[in-house]
Amino acid sequence: MKTLFRLCIGLSMILISACHRPADAKPQAGRPKNVILFIGDGMGLAQVQAAQLASDEPLNLLKANSIGFATTRSADHDVTDSGAGGTAIATGFKTRNGMIGMKPDSTEVPGMVELFAQKGYSTGVVVSCALTHATPASFLAHAVNRNLYEEIAADILQSPVDVLIGGGLKNFTARKDGRTLTKEMEDKGFTFLNHIPEKLMPDWKKLLIVTDSGHPEKVQNGRGDHLPKGVELALKQLSKNPKGFFLMVEGSQIDWACHANDSSYLIAEMMDFDQAIGRALHFQEKNPETLIVVTADHETGGLTFPKGAIKGSYRCDFSTGDHTGVAVPVYAFGPGAELFTGFYDNTDLIKKIMELTEGK
Ligand code: MG
Ligand code: ZN
Repeated sequence: MKTLFRLCIGLSMILISACHRPADAKPQAGRPKNVILFIGDGMGLAQVQAAQLASDEPLNLLKANSIGFATTRSADHDVTDSGAGGTAIATGFKTRNGMIGMKPDSTEVPGMVELFAQKGYSTGVVVSCALTHATPASFLAHAVNRNLYEEIAADILQSPVDVLIGGGLKNFTARKDGRTLTKEMEDKGFTFLNHIPEKLMPDWKKLLIVTDSGHPEKVQNGRGDHLPKGVELALKQLSKNPKGFFLMVEGSQIDWACHANDSSYLIAEMMDFDQAIGRALHFQEKNPETLIVVTADHETGGLTFPKGAIKGSYRCDFSTGDHTGVAVPVYAFGPGAELFTGFYDNTDLIKKIMELTEGK
């Protein structure tokens, strides 16, 4: 009990210091033109704190002035999976665990990529997993089961998305139906590359960058700056649209590190995710009409720091190898960020984002 109390005090102090607005920071008024949504898969408050404890520098994430919490349960479980969690964030509808971009009765519902594209915004998705995996799929496709990777890849062809960066090439090219979806996407105007280039070519309109046959490596095994560099490139391409853009970025492997109860894997993935957030904040400095929202689909691992664990070196304790049902933090930066404070449900995120933009 005492441990829990101390942990609560510790977490409250972090929250209070993070929520404290510097004297010179004014609330940013006006509508955002651009929206960048970061999802740290499995990233609860303790995952953020673990990364902060491991870092000499303040995390970019913790520079947010507006912080809230979102509940994450799915339509059929107190503890969501990433399919239902991603669908709740992308579409505003709760669904059953394992489903992608549809209601529990299998009715397809549009997600933010479709909604923003309909309004003339450019849209993009950048992830550190296969593009067909549950979280990006929730923004790009509709499927009764998250494991239907080849069907999801074919459905991505129907998405109005402009920029895709991630892994999962085999789901596009080594398929049971013999289709070569990369070729079909080139026919639709995509430039297809198997690496993240240093520069954009002026004639590139839509980008399909698939760096790996399956999932990109762990950062620890040489993924390099795939995610931060992917974010930077996507922002360059998407910001060509004078109307604005919507970009979803996922730190996909935070979840996998926590399933494995592997704290060094977790910290490496968290630092990579925070670097990607840093690139977005750098873009926002020059483009202040940009709203950045950082949240998670659920917490993974039941991570905590038991009594005595935080003293110079600290110890991460995981209480499960699965997801948990605790609410996740939401950090917001830029015009309209204030709307993301408070305690609400993850289906409210899209309502807040649409209320702030013309995508309503
Ligand atoms: Mg995911
Ligand atoms: Zn998971």
